Amino acid sequence: MKKTITSNDLKNLVNEAHAQVKDLKGGKNANYIPFLDKIDSNLFGISVCLPSGEVIEAGDTNYVFGIESVSKVYTAILVLRQYGAQAVLDKIGADATGLPFNSIMAILLENDHPSTPLVNAGAISADSMVKPVGNSEAKWKAITDNMRELSGSDLKLLDELYKSESETNFNNRSIAWLLKNFNRIYDDPNMSLDLYTRQCSMGVTAKQLSIAACTIANNGLNPVTKQQVFDPSLSPKITSLIATVGFYEHTGDWLYTSGVPAKSGVGGGVLGVVPGLFGIAAFAPPLDEAGNSVKAQAAIKYIAQKLNVNVFGGDHVEVIN
Ligand code: GLU
Repeated sequence: MKKTITSNDLKNLVNEAHAQVKDLKGGKNANYIPFLDKIDSNLFGISVCLPSGEVIEAGDTNYVFGIESVSKVYTAILVLRQYGAQAVLDKIGADATGLPFNSIMAILLENDHPSTPLVNAGAISADSMVKPVGNSEAKWKAITDNMRELSGSDLKLLDELYKSESETNFNNRSIAWLLKNFNRIYDDPNMSLDLYTRQCSMGVTAKQLSIAACTIANNGLNPVTKQQVFDPSLSPKITSLIATVGFYEHTGDWLYTSGVPAKSGVGGGVLGVVPGLFGIAAFAPPLDEAGNSVKAQAAIKYIAQKLNVNVFGGDHVEVIN
């Protein structure tokens, strides 16, 4: 069914979702990274960005939190921009692992066949691909420039998070060297791991995430800066990567119940894409056992269900002023 709503209706719905979800209990902050454990568990924000550039916000949408795994979407986009869709498929892949985000087993099971840039292994691999290969500083510039272009403003490194994560990332160190063993890393493993750790330690707001999500939903055109950030042909590739593995081992359950391709991070952020309609982001630190924000999931589901938007069916919604 075709349905037209006003941006004011959407504003009311976002406020309603915030009110409904804000007292939801359950989950706990990620504690394997000490910095994340200390963040106020009551923070909660929802932001929706429309292709018109309008951003609708409720709650703590300007609080700067650790982007963590949502950064994998950004770097996947960067290597897609630099290498094209086929090379990313050949060098990393686009498969679901069905396993936790930091799984070593997934690497052993698929050692002849890379999986996806949206789990730790594939993300470290993606960082190794970033051009110019061999030059850490220039690679970091490419990564952060791409983040700015997608979000419409600069993301800033959270030094304390970077330090905390660098001191405790033993599992990821194993992943980097295991990738080397299987010829699935395309630059120095230590440098690639460091770039990955740094990108995960970037601070972002829910508002910035929603603008990046809308850039994906809007075929690569950033709705706020009006910059064509990536080729429109890459948009469905990115959304399919997100849909396939965005919630790790809970991705199928999430997609089945929400109908919204979305990517979560252990900092409590979730970025969701409804192609052509909007980008949505929510942030709240307490996570379920797979590492996905409990309140962010509930908020996005609430809005999607009320609007009846779903990439597999549902209504065709148009938002007017
Ligand atoms: N930096 C985190 C890690 O590598 C990201 C995990 C996540 O957000 O899923 O463990």
